[in-house]
Formats: sequence, C-alpha cells, structure tokens
Amino acid sequence: MIDPVINANNQLEQRYRLLLHRIRQAESSCGRKTGSTKLLAVSKTRSAEEIRALAGLGQRRFGENYLQESEEKILQLRDLPIEWHFIGRIQSNKTRAIAQHFDWVHSVASLKHARRLNEQRPPEMPPLNICLQVNTSGEASKDGHDPELLPEMLADYASLPNLRVQGLMTIPAPAQSATEMRYPFQLLRNMRDRLASTELPLETLSMGMSDDLEVAIAEGATLIRIGTAIFGPRAYNQST
Ligand SMILES: *Cc1c(COP(=O)(O)O)cnc(C)c1O
Repeated sequence: MIDPVINANNQLEQRYRLLLHRIRQAESSCGRKTGSTKLLAVSKTRSAEEIRALAGLGQRRFGENYLQESEEKILQLRDLPIEWHFIGRIQSNKTRAIAQHFDWVHSVASLKHARRLNEQRPPEMPPLNICLQVNTSGEASKDGHDPELLPEMLADYASLPNLRVQGLMTIPAPAQSATEMRYPFQLLRNMRDRLASTELPLETLSMGMSDDLEVAIAEGATLIRIGTAIFGPRAYNQST
C-alpha cells in the first residue's frame, strides 16, 4: 500500500522541483541572471500541512488571498520563518488584520486602503512592503490603478511612513494569443522604468502565474505568483 500522505508530499516535491527548473530555464533563455526571479507560492485553499511540507523543501514566500483562511494558517505556522504576502482583493474592514499579519501586500489599488494600512500597521513591526496594482487590461471590472492616473499618485503613496512602496503588480485578463499575453507585462515594465527614481526604485515587478510565467520572466518579472503549478488544481469549497 502506498501511504497517501507520503505520496502527496512526493508529488508536491516533484512539482516544486519541476517548477524551479522551469524558472531557471526561462531566466537563462532570455539572458537573465539565475535567481533574479523570486517565487511566491500561492497557497490559497491549501492546508497548513501542505504549506509546511513546501516550507520543508526550502520555500519561504507564501501568498494568500482570503483573510480569514490565511489568519488561521499563519497562526498554525508561526514556528516557521515564512514571509507572508497578501495578494487578494482588499476590503476596508480587513485592512487592520492585513496590516497585523502580513509582510507584503501586492494588491494595493487605492490610496484610501493604503492610508488605512499605514495607520493600522503596528508600530513595533517593520514597514509593510506594498506593490501598487495596475489595471493593464483596461476592463472597468478589474481592480487596479488606471495606468494614466498612477503617476500623479505616487508621491502620496511614498509619503506614508509605515509602508514601503516596493513596486508594481498586475493580474492580466485572460489572453487570446501570445502577443496579447505579453502586452500587460510590457506595459507594467515600461511604467516601472518610467516611474522609478533614486528615492523610489520600484524594484519589484509582481507578474506571472502558472500559465504565463515564461512570458512574464522574459518581460522582467522579479516576483512570480504561482499556485497551480506547485499544488495542482484548486478545489474551491462552496462554503468559503
Ligand atoms: C490564485 C492567484 C495566483 C496563482 O495562480 P495560478 O494560476 O494557480 O498559478 C496568482 N496571483 C493571484 C493574484 C492569484 O489570485
């Protein structure tokens, strides 16, 4: 009999190793330095045990979308040196808990939320690292800053003392072609290059998921957010 836990962990390890290989290949095929792309393991819907198993393989950065689910896991995994990233849609009534539990927030889409996170960051903690989410697809239904309006807001974000603006993030709309897949990543990178300054280097480009990570890396991603390629397909629970 195959022990199902051991079997699941073997599968996780195989997927993880394969993914690391894919990332290194993508870096070298576009002439980027090995290790210049950081991996954020997206663990939404995954159990604390699965996160623990992956942390045991050396993964340190984990991304979560849903606050309640993540608070429980963060508590259960307090003994591990995990860096927690919030990547979900922010609700105003959740900013305090986000500011208390996370090291990074990728999905900052309004000054209002940023001001709340700034006020609610506990004083004994280091500044909260944030990325400003950009709506690269032009769909009104998508979260994120209008690329036209973000430049004039940058100084306001940079003035919040308990936040550290690290860079930009995008979640592209589904693409119909290779060119379409590339476009949002190019847009984000060009914006970063245009807006970066000595005071605000905007070093982080958080872009690329399981299906488009090679394209994102070729376009300069520094942090890719990967769930399915590590953990397998997600089974959403209706009650959560
Ligand atoms: C779920 C999610 C991911 C990971 O997507 P996969 O396709 O499973 O790799 C990345 N970024 C965000 C914002 C997500 O919500």
